[in-house]
Amino acid sequence: MVALAASTAVLLFNGTIRTNTRSLDAVAPALCFDSVVKATGTLEVVAAACPGARRVDLAGATAVPGLTDSHAHIMLEAARRRKADLSQCSNAAACASVLKRWGDAHPLQRWVQGFGFDQTAWAGGQWPTRHDLDVIRRPARADHISGHAVWVNSAALRAANVTRATKSPPGGTIVRDALGRPTGILTDDAMDLIDAVVPPPRASAVDASFQAVLEACAAAGLTGVHDLAALPGDVDYYLSRADQLTLRLNVYRDAASHEYIPPVGSGESRLVRVRGAKFFLDGAMGSWTAAMLQPYSDRPTTGTLIYNTSELLAGVKKWKVAGYQVAAHAIGDAANRQILDVYEQAGAKAADRFRVEHVQILSKQDLPRFAKLGVIPSMQTTHCASDLGYAAARLGARANLSYAWRALLDSGVDVLPLGSDFPTAGTIPPLLGLHAGITRERPDGTPAGGWHPEERLTPLETLRGYTADAAFAAFREKELGALERGYAADITLLAADPVTCDPARLPDLAVLGTVVGGDVVFAAPRGPLAGLARPRRAVSGRLSERALIAAAAWERRLVVDTAEDKKWARPWEEAMHAPARHRRGKAM
Ligand SMILES: [Zn+2]
Repeated sequence: MVALAASTAVLLFNGTIRTNTRSLDAVAPALCFDSVVKATGTLEVVAAACPGARRVDLAGATAVPGLTDSHAHIMLEAARRRKADLSQCSNAAACASVLKRWGDAHPLQRWVQGFGFDQTAWAGGQWPTRHDLDVIRRPARADHISGHAVWVNSAALRAANVTRATKSPPGGTIVRDALGRPTGILTDDAMDLIDAVVPPPRASAVDASFQAVLEACAAAGLTGVHDLAALPGDVDYYLSRADQLTLRLNVYRDAASHEYIPPVGSGESRLVRVRGAKFFLDGAMGSWTAAMLQPYSDRPTTGTLIYNTSELLAGVKKWKVAGYQVAAHAIGDAANRQILDVYEQAGAKAADRFRVEHVQILSKQDLPRFAKLGVIPSMQTTHCASDLGYAAARLGARANLSYAWRALLDSGVDVLPLGSDFPTAGTIPPLLGLHAGITRERPDGTPAGGWHPEERLTPLETLRGYTADAAFAAFREKELGALERGYAADITLLAADPVTCDPARLPDLAVLGTVVGGDVVFAAPRGPLAGLARPRRAVSGRLSERALIAAAAWERRLVVDTAEDKKWARPWEEAMHAPARHRRGKAM
């Protein structure tokens, strides 16, 4: 790959350049950039403004302002890549062979680790045992999809010194055979016995997984991510790896993980902003833990609010006073009401741009409050596509005000940042989010015509959610989210115009290039930018202990969040005892 000299401007021509996603007409055939956009317009105009620029023929491709995912979890995605994915295995032997291969590919890892096994989906539904994993010599552990159980081999039991004599701790079970020997399955608090002896990941493994995430984001066309709920060590990590970054990070600190509030902006670097704080208010709809005003339609529970309102108000005020932009995870209608009340009581103004993440289920009376208070709903279009199989059963008539993008816009909301929530409830490619926003269908086109199609977004609105609205939600609408003169040269180059092409093409639409601050961070092999990609920068510098502790914490959280993601469709206690009759999942 050839490095692009820093001073070289690039002139894109013979394409469709969407310079501003607030207008259908803001389209130009040519654009010139170095680290910022220098000119847009006709080839003549742009060439005159950028003499000597390197010309790149787009051959009809479309450049849009760099796509930004307004809600994702970078370090959790990295952690996921440090373990083998067992969610597709259909029996114990398949899991063992996936783990064995993973172990062979990672000879330096002292433990072989996987996540996501689900014996209720296997023929017979029996729990596996340690013997199934004893083909692996090293200690091996596999986390159950629910996060409530771990399956280990004999070497792991030895490493943890769990024997016939070990008592189950309160709140957990060491599952035993008829002779009282541990079978290799440990549940809930008994999992701590294993966790205590699993070593934290090596710095090299963290770096490799982080690099893989960056590459996947660049290849998918992402120029930025809002990283929701960062641990203190994550911010250390981003700072120590600032040179490697190939996307912009807008970081929200996880409020609950911070004993004290760091000065706003601490830990920032060229591509990283750290000015947000995030609270978790409730759980998820799939596991009946999202907090509802009225019981679920298929279970007599209203879920759980994590905070009482006065302690949440105190927390929000503290971060607000410290200068942070507050965001809060709220899925159920009760959680949404609580956070709107709290923002109101905290005196939040539209200028504070406080956010609510997910906003999945709203009551009629709360819906207009977003526009009234100037609170930003940050939503994930693919959630609708992945939840539609059971949303009606859980919600009944309330499904009418779930994922209510159109109703929110109609109520006067004019900023609707969109994202994926990868990896907990989505995957990286933003084109899937565009597709879901426009169609309310799954990527395979079902249900045809879309689920509650009255809530669909237009293609331009959806693109705006990934560009201008994402920038606004990060206080950066004057420098990011458009391709007008003076804006940062953050560009996603696509094989077709996502505003005018058939939406059914979007899931498979080719990403031809990704540019961040003028650096070509991804170029499709035979695409217009081929040969211009910046070389990968070598990793240097040690990692702080806090960064490694954070990486280890994400590995432990992985299973829990993945379980939420999979919308664990039956309560854990039932799953413990009876195999599933029906498979949950995408095809449901
Ligand atoms: Zn999330």
